[in-house]
Amino acid sequence: MSNTLIKSSNFIKSAIDIEGAFEKEFPHVAFIGRSNVGKSSTINALTKNKGLAKTSSLPGRTRQINLFLINNKYYFVDLPGYGYSKMSNSKRDDITDMIDSYLFNKKYNQLKVVLIIDAFVGFTDNDMEMLQALEQNKKEIIVIANKIDRIKPSQKVLQIKKIKETIGSHKLFFYSAEKQIGLNEIIQEIFR
Ligand code: GDP
Repeated sequence: MSNTLIKSSNFIKSAIDIEGAFEKEFPHVAFIGRSNVGKSSTINALTKNKGLAKTSSLPGRTRQINLFLINNKYYFVDLPGYGYSKMSNSKRDDITDMIDSYLFNKKYNQLKVVLIIDAFVGFTDNDMEMLQALEQNKKEIIVIANKIDRIKPSQKVLQIKKIKETIGSHKLFFYSAEKQIGLNEIIQEIFR
């Protein structure tokens, strides 16, 4: 299955150590977000490839960096979720180190960093920290707010306004990976 901009998507590998994981000099698009925000669901929905990234209703599952090859010329880099409170401090530190050693290492220059937040939950402190770190490191940021289907129609306007005010001038898209709402706009922005 494909859409107009994503014609092929393949799983390459799961890596704990990102060093040496990229065999080709393709541009990277990184996906980062809170644990359980729907990162895997988003990658599957964007690529229209249901089984590509493993989804789970249990938070804190993905503790590796997963690499996907898109159109045989881009890497999608699926980073472990941050901010899972039930995880031990040492495990959480390991994950933070893994994320930082990829995202904030000058060796890897991402075409775009896609920060996924939960539209229903709104911006968490961890999301804010991540956004600030990305800004400080001058990343090309796209913020996408998933699970829009969970917001009651009567709450929508207020919740959208709140999130918009928090993120300032960044590109922001509201969508639902599960209900397949708002995905085309995101794909277009990623490859713009
Ligand atoms: P990850 O840990 O960030 O990779 O999250 P997953 O993609 O595994 O999803 C975590 C949970 O959120 C799963 O139970 C999904 O079914 C659910 N989920 C993902 N996207 C959506 C969405 O758009 N709407 C709703 N209501 N649930 C979603």
